[in-house]
Amino acid sequence: MLQEFLKSNAATRFGLQQQFTPPIQVINNLRALCVNILQPLRDAVGQAIDINSGYRCLALNTMIGGSKNSQHIRGEAADIEMTIPDEKDLKAGNKKLFDTIIALDLPYDQLINEFDFSWVHVSYTTKRKPRKQILQAVRRNGKIVYLPYKASNFAHPQPQDDTVQVSSFFVF
Ligand SMILES: [Zn+2]
Repeated sequence: MLQEFLKSNAATRFGLQQQFTPPIQVINNLRALCVNILQPLRDAVGQAIDINSGYRCLALNTMIGGSKNSQHIRGEAADIEMTIPDEKDLKAGNKKLFDTIIALDLPYDQLINEFDFSWVHVSYTTKRKPRKQILQAVRRNGKIVYLPYKASNFAHPQPQDDTVQVSSFFVF
């Protein structure tokens, strides 16, 4: 199970040993992410979930252009996808994951619809009360921008205040 959160083709290719031997704090954070978010989500959707990216060691995070504050560095975030037999159903499956996290009111810190549900980023932290921040990542003029997520069928409406807009050149 831990291996799912450490695997990285880039880290393997470039021999980043530290990616595969995370500090104990990272392992504890990954466990908390599983217990509080991923396992309840999996139980609710009744289907397997792929972890595309969990922990990222600093070198890996820098290499892929991740934000310096990315929660992946601390093992607090995962990029997830629904496991589905047919690729054409992937976005619908990922939207289901996203909607289910909100509907269950899981204690996520940050939830991101990445590029029209190409995947879902979700984080959990033991450091503070969860922010319950919901964003969507879009590309604008070749740059990645994070906007408040807007959906009409939203179970728990978010303040639609553009001052909470988060912009970044980086990926969370
Ligand atoms: Zn992510």
